[in-house]
Amino acid sequence: MFGQMMQQPLLISSLIVHAERHHGDREIVSRRVEGDIHRTTYKEVASRSRRMAKALAALGVKPGDRVATLAWNGYRHMELYFAVSGSGAVLHTVNPRLHPDQITYIADHAEDQVLFFDMTFLPLIQAIAGRTKTIRHFVAMTDRAHLPADAKVPGLLCYEDLVDAQDDRYDWPSFDENTASSLCYTSGTTGNPKGVLYSHRSTMLHTMSAALPDGLDCSAADVVLPVVPMFHVNAWGIVYVGPMTGAKLVFPGAGLDGKSLYELFEAEGVTLSAGVPTVWQGLLGYVEANGLKFSTMRRSAIGGSACPPAMIRKFLNDYGVQVIHAWGMTEMSPIGTAASFKAKHAAMGQEDRFAVMATQGRAVFGVDMKIVGEDGRDLPWDGEASGDLLVRGPWIISSYFKNEGGDPLKDGWFPTGDVAKINADGYMIITDRSKDVIKSGGEWIGSIDLENIAMAHPAVAMAACIAARHPKWDERPLLVVVKKPGAEVTREELIAFYDGKIAKWWTPDDVVFVDAIPLGATGKMQKIKLREQFKEHQLPSA
Ligand code: ADP
Repeated sequence: MFGQMMQQPLLISSLIVHAERHHGDREIVSRRVEGDIHRTTYKEVASRSRRMAKALAALGVKPGDRVATLAWNGYRHMELYFAVSGSGAVLHTVNPRLHPDQITYIADHAEDQVLFFDMTFLPLIQAIAGRTKTIRHFVAMTDRAHLPADAKVPGLLCYEDLVDAQDDRYDWPSFDENTASSLCYTSGTTGNPKGVLYSHRSTMLHTMSAALPDGLDCSAADVVLPVVPMFHVNAWGIVYVGPMTGAKLVFPGAGLDGKSLYELFEAEGVTLSAGVPTVWQGLLGYVEANGLKFSTMRRSAIGGSACPPAMIRKFLNDYGVQVIHAWGMTEMSPIGTAASFKAKHAAMGQEDRFAVMATQGRAVFGVDMKIVGEDGRDLPWDGEASGDLLVRGPWIISSYFKNEGGDPLKDGWFPTGDVAKINADGYMIITDRSKDVIKSGGEWIGSIDLENIAMAHPAVAMAACIAARHPKWDERPLLVVVKKPGAEVTREELIAFYDGKIAKWWTPDDVVFVDAIPLGATGKMQKIKLREQFKEHQLPSA
């Protein structure tokens, strides 16, 4: 027997329709690449999205066609999120930090028809325009006044001209909720980047769960500044959570340095933000150096790589900001887990509460997870056993775009490539990525723990722990450290810093100091490069 309720497909356009009707006057603020602060509202974004949907149709974009963006976080990018997906086409957000060869590969692989770009990326567009195979139009996301007379891009169009040429009388089409809505490529740390193709249904379900109190905890009263880019996994869903909840959105554009971010946080009354640990380092460094405080910020979602516990403490103790440590991946839309308290934690001492916050958190509703041993059998949730982490759920990938790489699933579960433990309360702790694990004498050493300890040392700005060759133990941990400007610390002092904090045999065998640790296109440490750089490193113990 079927239920007798309305059949309405879950479509992304419904988010902007809702926001226009119920939160029409709520502001959307953007730091523009043109240099100014721009203010608009959900009502205006909704109207301009409809005009852009008509403009896309006028350019010959059909349902299912891929439309690419190379853009910062901003209101025009947001309009495209709704105009493209809402009209039935597929929004392909491209990471501008990738190499031009990789961008060309991705655009060809996706068969992008139109590419929208922020003016910052004009040189990049000039480099790839003659090389991409399928792009028919390049659209500069600016007005005519900011368009250079000779941009040297064939067939260049101007965003504001396209909007101006249309009125906003447009009804969002209805279609199957399983229709593809957006496409995001993984960073390609192993081989060519692979496409993750989200659907309207997966996006809407993810948005509902992401907004929940034990997720990003977002409501109409919030002012949210996503530092996490809209070109990486849909800014962790915040561009959808905003209109669903009626939160004010503040977009930082290209200004991701500590000073620019801090000024925007204060000027706009930001209450909630989200980003990777490396971004917060810049922000905290600026705030600390200038003796500043946050007057409105309450919560900060941190993920993408492990958030060092020292950062969680600093945020709370010095600035009254609660860190929401979250874990996920491109293949998971991205949110899988978030660390928030259960009722029983209220009575705990602060140290124990910090330990809860430092985990990667509990699965949000909709995500099912398990850990398995090398034999593929389930491991207990006892906070001790660690193994490969697998997930499943309605916003988790079932296959890559164009079936690249074959079937990624194992018995209906997606192997994340992460190694984790889960405790009896369901809090998950990532100990490593399987390819970064250090195997010493047949036992695993988790590099994240070792990095977190080093990061708590006052002289350390950034630390990576990698495997170095060892004749007896196969691999031993080597700590690679960037010192804070003006700070001094020796190898011996850092090694002694591990005393009593960790099993003795986990202590790094050696420390090397470097000027910088290579970061990938999404701000993560590129340990592959470090391993390559230090593959001949002679450990003193060897
Ligand atoms: P890529 O796989 O290309 O690096 P993703 O952004 O999808 O891009 O990365 C997902 C991976 O990032 C996860 O599998 C995990 O290894 C790591 N990660 C994400 N969040 C966390 C976190 N809070 N703690 C530790 N690792 C994390």
